[in-house]
Amino acid sequence: MDYSAAADAALPAREICIEQMIAKPYDVCIIGGGITGAGIALDAATRGLRVCLIEKGDYASGTSSKSTKLIHGGLRYLKQLDVALVREVGRERAAVHRLAPHLVQPEKMFIPIVEGGQMGKITTNMALWVYDKLAGVGGDDRRRMLDREEALAAEPMLDPTIVEGGALYAEYRTDDARLTIENLKTAAVLGAVSANYVEAMSLLTDEEDLVIGVRACDRVTGVGFDVRAEVVVNAAGPWVDFIREKDHSLEGKRIFHAKGVHLVVPRERFPVRQSIYFDLPDGRMCFAIPRDRSTYFGTTDTPFEADPNHVATSQEDLDYLLEGVNAMFPTLELRAGEIESSWAGLRPLIYEPGKSASEMSRRDEIFESDSGLLSIAGGKLTGYRRMSERIVDKVVERTGRGGESRTATTALGGNDFPSFSSVRSYRTTVGVLLRDAGLPETRADYLVHLYGAQVPEIVALADASVPDPELRLALAELEWSIVKEQVQRLDDFTIRRTGRLYFDRTQLDVLLPGLMAYFAARKGLSEATANKQLARLREVSREHYVFEAAGAPVAA
Ligand code: FAD
Repeated sequence: MDYSAAADAALPAREICIEQMIAKPYDVCIIGGGITGAGIALDAATRGLRVCLIEKGDYASGTSSKSTKLIHGGLRYLKQLDVALVREVGRERAAVHRLAPHLVQPEKMFIPIVEGGQMGKITTNMALWVYDKLAGVGGDDRRRMLDREEALAAEPMLDPTIVEGGALYAEYRTDDARLTIENLKTAAVLGAVSANYVEAMSLLTDEEDLVIGVRACDRVTGVGFDVRAEVVVNAAGPWVDFIREKDHSLEGKRIFHAKGVHLVVPRERFPVRQSIYFDLPDGRMCFAIPRDRSTYFGTTDTPFEADPNHVATSQEDLDYLLEGVNAMFPTLELRAGEIESSWAGLRPLIYEPGKSASEMSRRDEIFESDSGLLSIAGGKLTGYRRMSERIVDKVVERTGRGGESRTATTALGGNDFPSFSSVRSYRTTVGVLLRDAGLPETRADYLVHLYGAQVPEIVALADASVPDPELRLALAELEWSIVKEQVQRLDDFTIRRTGRLYFDRTQLDVLLPGLMAYFAARKGLSEATANKQLARLREVSREHYVFEAAGAPVAA
């Protein structure tokens, strides 16, 4: 099989995929298009299995666009003495970086060591030493301890009266939603079919109550249809137990929802020099990460018992995080009214009685029900590849078809880079390409990080008759993602294909009317539908609260 074809990855139109799902039976049908489902689709496709995947909303619209966006070894799991988990995800970081070095980029993480903090110099040094060993980190990426002066130079916003030193260690940052979509596109090159906005309504069973497929509903047309598959895999993240209820197999271990919130401010209002991982006053750890024109920080970790379809940032979340960053960076004085955007997601954890949300393990687990339904829950973005491999091993066992997993050597769509240094030099190439096309050169980093070697395809779509270069570029991205990535609604584009709603809010507000007009014309939307979509956009914006100085949430 020629895996280099992944560089030309694209998702066929969803209507074609749905037709194919109706027309023939599959070895495996996956419910859920988050990173877990997407990883499973790719793993199964590399083994030559016939794969289809359905997602009730947009791809990654569940937890997989709401994470801290780190491919990380989970330093904090060392505290829980979960050595096996640290080892596995630590090693996975390097593997996933290799598969898409433009999308999973190395990033030095800075930990300040402060008076009265949870970890002193000796414990931090030891913890990072163990972490490096478990994750197999070598060379320049190994931890480096900093003295007080070096730590203050690394982050001048810290309180000099309490800083005792610091440490630098290696992590990787990514875009979770794009990692999901690139897995799906790569799977599509290998024959997998997938459709967003298709919901699994019930499970099809035979006379012996064995699952033989899924009854689905196309959420765009409202039309129901059946998908036949030898094995059905439930990768529905926070919704896993709802699917387990459908074959009455929900017994024993359950999913526990822990809400996590991130807040976003303009970079100049929280100008961290690099990613930083620090103590909050209650002892929880918090990340602050610069990205494009913004800095985002979080997260919270609180039990969530309401409807997983409606998760939003609350006033309490906002107060907690603002208090935390203002305590660590006393000159910052961030106020609620300065928050540009936020996102709230649910960790689908396996419930452990007597433990708090932060204490519960981040391990994944597979449930096999008597009906044959395979469910997978828990886990982390970072470990998606190994999780996928484990569950597809079971599919192979069941069906007697398919070979070894090939995901360790299957580059993800848009990756033409032998190493990270080639990604760096590619940024310069893209800068020139943008300048020549009359597009903003300042967007080179953003474009290379999100799309890698696919950037020239996007630039080629830029329409010179659009006077504003920013809008010209955004429209080219939109057109490309409609053609290649099944964008159905404008918020698929503004949130999950580009992250613009989170990280470029001010600019997006300016571009939105132009984007909406283009999208409505391109999709042939009636005025009523265009208005409905606009209303939905406003609704989505409301979910990403902008807070007034007084603290009350207002519609964006
Ligand atoms: P999801 O992404 O939720 O995907 C499940 C999908 O199933 C959803 O899109 C949903 O719409 C779909 N679905 C549900 N029901 C149906 C149905 N009936 N029919 C069709 N589709 C259906 N991990 C890391 O490694 N690094 C991090 O930095 C990190 N930070 C995190 C921060 C926060 C705040 C949170 C909440 C999690 C974080 N994680 C992190 C964990 C990581 O994000 C999750 O483990 C991962 O995204 C879960 O992916 P998933 O595919 O299992 O679930």
